[in-house]
Amino acid sequence: MIPVTSFKGQRVALFGLGGSGLATARALVAGGAEVLAWDDNAESVAKAAAEGIGTADLRTVDWSGIAALILSPGVPLTHPQPHWSVLLASPLGVDIIGDIELFARERRAHAPDAPLICITGTNGKSTTTALIAHILKTSGRDTQLGGNIGTAVLTLAPLTPERFYVVECSSYQIDLAPSLHPSAGILLNLTPDHIDRHGTMENYAAVKARLVLASETAIVGDDDDFCRAIAADLETKDRRVLRISRDHRVPAGLYALGTILHESGDGGDAIVTDLAGIETLRGSHNAQNAAAAIAACLAVGLSRDEILAGLSSFPGLKHRMQPIARRGAVTFVNDSKATNADAAAPALSSYDRIYWIAGGVAKEGGIEPLRPFFPKIAKAYLIGQAAEAFAATLGDAVPFARSGTLEAAVAEAAADAEQAGEPAAVLLSPACASFDQYKNFEMRGDAFVGHVAGLAGVAMLI
Ligand code: ADP
Repeated sequence: MIPVTSFKGQRVALFGLGGSGLATARALVAGGAEVLAWDDNAESVAKAAAEGIGTADLRTVDWSGIAALILSPGVPLTHPQPHWSVLLASPLGVDIIGDIELFARERRAHAPDAPLICITGTNGKSTTTALIAHILKTSGRDTQLGGNIGTAVLTLAPLTPERFYVVECSSYQIDLAPSLHPSAGILLNLTPDHIDRHGTMENYAAVKARLVLASETAIVGDDDDFCRAIAADLETKDRRVLRISRDHRVPAGLYALGTILHESGDGGDAIVTDLAGIETLRGSHNAQNAAAAIAACLAVGLSRDEILAGLSSFPGLKHRMQPIARRGAVTFVNDSKATNADAAAPALSSYDRIYWIAGGVAKEGGIEPLRPFFPKIAKAYLIGQAAEAFAATLGDAVPFARSGTLEAAVAEAAADAEQAGEPAAVLLSPACASFDQYKNFEMRGDAFVGHVAGLAGVAMLI
């Protein structure tokens, strides 16, 4: 745990006692703050109180003696409307911040030189965060991984000057972290998302931009207009910017042409590596992630050899285009995290011949946006509620089976792929939420792995 000492002897309010909220409350108490924690969920409040954390209904407390309001990232700061605790705190000028800000203040006070890499963007955050942490660990660096990826940042090991921190940041967390100054900050890409929480796309982009604006080295995607504008703005401010691209040359930075990663700079361009053999980094979206990860690792002082060693042994993240098994020329791939068509697109674009398992609870628009990939689909296996709607979209364009369950789909797809005898992927990339048949996408992915493991003659890769 990283005890929060910046509020020692002071009273702080905290709203939101989910996983990271509770961890934050503990860290504040450990650092000597007087915490008044609250949540709409009475059970969460009772749990905190049982641990000895101070609790109080923040609607009725005297705000004049409160130094800060610590907000969980899930609680609205501005949109669709400010949370009631924000409305109580802000007229009195009470600082409203989140756990990443508390981490940033501790770092500044106790270990300002501790290398800190922060990652944001609309897509690819977790993959890039995990890849950077893997490269650092493989190189022997003492590495801590946390933030939005699932480990609350204040539960990480205490700050020391030689410890590396790799922190995934959502836009909500950045919004609540005004003095975060990473050694290297990555903004991967920006597409419309979470607009309900930020009002407009411009607002959302402005919040994300703050992370790279505050970084010693800014690493910014060059593959969409919003990021390009942010990179250009940083350059006019004479900031150190490395651009990254998944598909075209950039003047100062790292870029992919096909599977080959290049580095450009004043002395000319050089090939960094070929991602072709790295199964866990397939696809141009992963080239973007890998380029950003390499740029960040170079920025914090790793050698090229150290970086390449980590890159080639990256195990990938569960449920995200994860190769889980092989049988002959057929690879079984778990992309259960793809809960809508946009999220399924990278996987469908990354394989040439696909036995595609799809379905569940469809999002608006169904799989129509995936039509450009239909020619690569040898056959589709439809499951769950969306089966009929997806069958209608596939029509005569793609052969399909109404498999119904994931278990049946795995058996049928595996048999068809084996019979065809060609290199192919049996891909679970459902383009749907899971909750008609599973509690969440993780359980759906785990069920897929279980069914594949039960097939005769498969070699598991995990
Ligand atoms: P996030 O943490 O931002 O949600 P993840 O790394 O968990 O992103 O990846 C989620 C899904 O997003 C992946 O399964 C893949 O389909 C897609 N994805 C990953 N990286 C990128 C990228 N750089 N650009 C676009 N889509 C991506």
